[in-house]
Amino acid sequence: MVAERGLGTVAEEPVVRMGETQAGVTRPSVSPIYQTTAFDVPDLDVLQQLYAGQVTGDIYTRDSNPGMRALAQSVAALEGTEAGAVFASGMGSLGSIFLTLLSAGDHVLAAQSLYGKTLQLASRMQRFNIAVSAFDVGDPQQLAQQLRPETKFVLVETVANPLLEVADIERLASAAGAVPLIVDSTFTTPELIRPCSLGAAAVIHSASKYLNGHGDVMLGVAAGSQQLMSRLNETASIFGQNANPFECWLTLRGLRTLPLRMQQLCRTTCELARFLSVHPAVERVYHPSLQQHPSHELASRLYPRGTGGIIAIELRTGGADGVATVNRFLRAVPQLPFSPTLADARTTLSHPALTSHRFLSAAARAEAGISDALVRISVGLEPLELLQQEFDRGLRSLLS
Ligand SMILES: *Cc1c(COP(=O)(O)O)cnc(C)c1O
Repeated sequence: MVAERGLGTVAEEPVVRMGETQAGVTRPSVSPIYQTTAFDVPDLDVLQQLYAGQVTGDIYTRDSNPGMRALAQSVAALEGTEAGAVFASGMGSLGSIFLTLLSAGDHVLAAQSLYGKTLQLASRMQRFNIAVSAFDVGDPQQLAQQLRPETKFVLVETVANPLLEVADIERLASAAGAVPLIVDSTFTTPELIRPCSLGAAAVIHSASKYLNGHGDVMLGVAAGSQQLMSRLNETASIFGQNANPFECWLTLRGLRTLPLRMQQLCRTTCELARFLSVHPAVERVYHPSLQQHPSHELASRLYPRGTGGIIAIELRTGGADGVATVNRFLRAVPQLPFSPTLADARTTLSHPALTSHRFLSAAARAEAGISDALVRISVGLEPLELLQQEFDRGLRSLLS
């Protein structure tokens, strides 16, 4: 103890060494967030054992952290795979796959209906002398014909945005043969389908969407073999695509209610799709539960529990401008917010022509079936009756 004038007794322990938490004889009911950059290692023998994988532990959070490992293991268990990995965002998981599996001179085969940013990622690869070609998910033969000796993987989504074309994963995996099929299952989650049990080599998710499910996280995950996940994790660490402890903690919390959320969403969504399909202000409804949807039969077989919470509707314009019609609808129901994401706990609306598909030419949008009057609905956890009332109010405003 050193006494200084005016300061009383100065503690021997400098303040930077204070504040270590002590759990005592109890344990926290919820795992804490390990908000730490690095982990203190007792000695160099333990350090060597950690690097050799002989003991479990973390060294530096960019590589691993208890929360990141817990989430990766949970996702692997849900997907029925050996291992999982976590990334800064859904794009981080895709970016890691591209950077891990591809070298100059290689080729990737991508479904033409992929998420807009994923298509952008694929086309950026061409700068590094990586060839990318697109195929129609509905035609596995096209996939087989486009395979090349240098094709390193095939990339598809379980259910495509926004018209909800369903991929026949088993047939696509078999058409791809020895080339790994990578499946983006963001729209469907392991609650509705497990792509790796149908022949996919790996599955990825934007956990910013349903896995977290509360609209407050940016995170990506992957699941597959231990070997592939270790390689992806290493790439993520090198290129800085790593997740962080807080987002993992939030996602682990969200994940606990995934089964309940997906069950309710699937039920509400099917009922709402049926309601909208007979509404006089709606030109067309896209949802695989409806008989007129091109993927209806495949979806009934592959998705006995439903295809998730997305519906697309084309508003009846009566010859008016599509964007103006959507604007009238949006202004009539502020309770159904426009929000360019999906899988929030609330119901949200988006407009593919001016968001995900805005960089396509008008002709390419028309070819893809994305009209200016198309609205994408991400159904939330509100009661069905309330949603029916609100959609009805917005849609009726178009008829007056
Ligand atoms: C949102 C989304 C992504 C990208 O995920 P982020 O977490 O936003 O980076 C990838 N694929 C699909 C199908 C998505 O919906």
